[in-house]
Amino acid sequence: MVSRVIPVDPFDLVIFGGTGDLARRKILPGLFRRYCAGQMPEEARIVGAARSALSSEDYRALVAESVREVSGGRACEDGTLDGFLARLDYVRIDARGSDGWEDLAALMRPEMVRAFYFSVGPGLFGDLAERIHLHGMASELARIVVEKPFGHDLASARELNATLAAHFDEGQIYRIDHYLGKETVQNLMAIRFGNMLFEPLWNSQYVDHIQITVAETVGVGGRGEYYDTAGAMRDMVQNHLMQLLCLIAMEPPAKFDPDAVRDEKLKVIRALDPVEPHHIVRGQYLAQDGEHPGYREAVNDPRSRTESYIALKTHVSNWRWAGTPFYLRTGKRLVARSSVINVMFKDAPHSIFGQEAGRHANVLSIRLQPNEGITLQVTIKEPGPGGMRLVDVPLDMTFAEALGPDGEDPPDAYERLIMDVIRGNQTLFMRGDEVEAAWAWTDPIIAGWQSRGEVPKPYDSGSTGPGDADLLMKRDHRAWRGIKP
Ligand code: NAD
Repeated sequence: MVSRVIPVDPFDLVIFGGTGDLARRKILPGLFRRYCAGQMPEEARIVGAARSALSSEDYRALVAESVREVSGGRACEDGTLDGFLARLDYVRIDARGSDGWEDLAALMRPEMVRAFYFSVGPGLFGDLAERIHLHGMASELARIVVEKPFGHDLASARELNATLAAHFDEGQIYRIDHYLGKETVQNLMAIRFGNMLFEPLWNSQYVDHIQITVAETVGVGGRGEYYDTAGAMRDMVQNHLMQLLCLIAMEPPAKFDPDAVRDEKLKVIRALDPVEPHHIVRGQYLAQDGEHPGYREAVNDPRSRTESYIALKTHVSNWRWAGTPFYLRTGKRLVARSSVINVMFKDAPHSIFGQEAGRHANVLSIRLQPNEGITLQVTIKEPGPGGMRLVDVPLDMTFAEALGPDGEDPPDAYERLIMDVIRGNQTLFMRGDEVEAAWAWTDPIIAGWQSRGEVPKPYDSGSTGPGDADLLMKRDHRAWRGIKP
């Protein structure tokens, strides 16, 4: 399979927080891959801007180290790393003061796309937007990329939207949710809207329910302080799981263009029912073998009531989905790392094969990580003699296999999204009203458990989460699909 790389226009890309964890692990190695793929024009320039006192030379050495680390040394074999590093500059900057801003402004070239990636804590987003404007860098060709978390609740998200809107038009603001940059997520849209096969069945008449699982094996790690103020609901459900739900539930947009897609997603969020308290299960992981600390230890608060796991049931109240539950779950320190959406179709209305053939239903599984791909579970006759026995088998569309051993890996979510920013395509970014609508749904749920003083249920590290999450399904005569790597 031949990958087609469409070169982008020359650009200036400023990475605020260019020495931070996200920049070093994802953004810069991703840019390097785009460079290797031939997508970065000769004149493109990347400027790291952060607090540390570094020269551009120091910065290039730092980036070289990160790129080598992430790519396991492979990056340098063909000698292209130097070419990439030659495009890098560094400016020491104080987001809250005046240091460095004139130097940065002097590096910007007129008539060129300029993107400012805010890879810093959210407390600095407003300061950065204000200073970019103040120092004359907010040209028509300027755009800003804003990392999560986008607000802590509806009020703070509104405030942040208003702050950014004071300096940039909505068309210049790219709120990133890297889940939307995943190959499979875009394939979900291709499968739904590019085929006749699924769309007629994509409704409550044929779909029994939807399961969305984002399971992690890691704990809160070094992010404990932040995480304990957020929890799984704010950190994962309000953004990533909500976006996935939208893509599954939305109506076909008239066009694959940013506003058409985002209008449809917004309608889904606004159609979400409030969640009943008995349809939510919250959990906190326990320590494992004395090796890994439990959640409360990890966040250094023996009385913390923040959830590291959440499972909930909700409904999209519209014609298409009336009566079809959406079950969402996400958690840390679970049995496997796995992000998957399962569209569970209904059983055939009548079995011509009799009781003994059992009950069989089709399942469309969309795997986001690991092993991105899509599987359709279909029922066939078990091969061989012995009568008509039915068995479920997967029709597998694993992309790695389709691409073949010599095929190129699809771009990582971050690299794809950054190139979309440069191209000026906002389709895979969240609009301000979407983010606010998601908080408007989330806030009362959180307020509810806070007012009831609910304490999350403990669960074993390495498990599938608290037993109550299984009961949530069992009460509806359903079961979660296994969490498999
Ligand atoms: P980090 O703490 O590793 O890096 C912070 C960066 O900001 C550093 O480069 C630092 O020099 C710079 N900085 C801090 N204060 C500054 C100031 N006053 N002036 C100028 N620069 C300043 O953080 P990170 O993990 O890279 O995260 C960055 C952002 O990305 C955060 O909003 C975070 O929530 C988000 N994010 C991170 C990850 C991740 O995997 N690390 C994932 C998703 C979202």
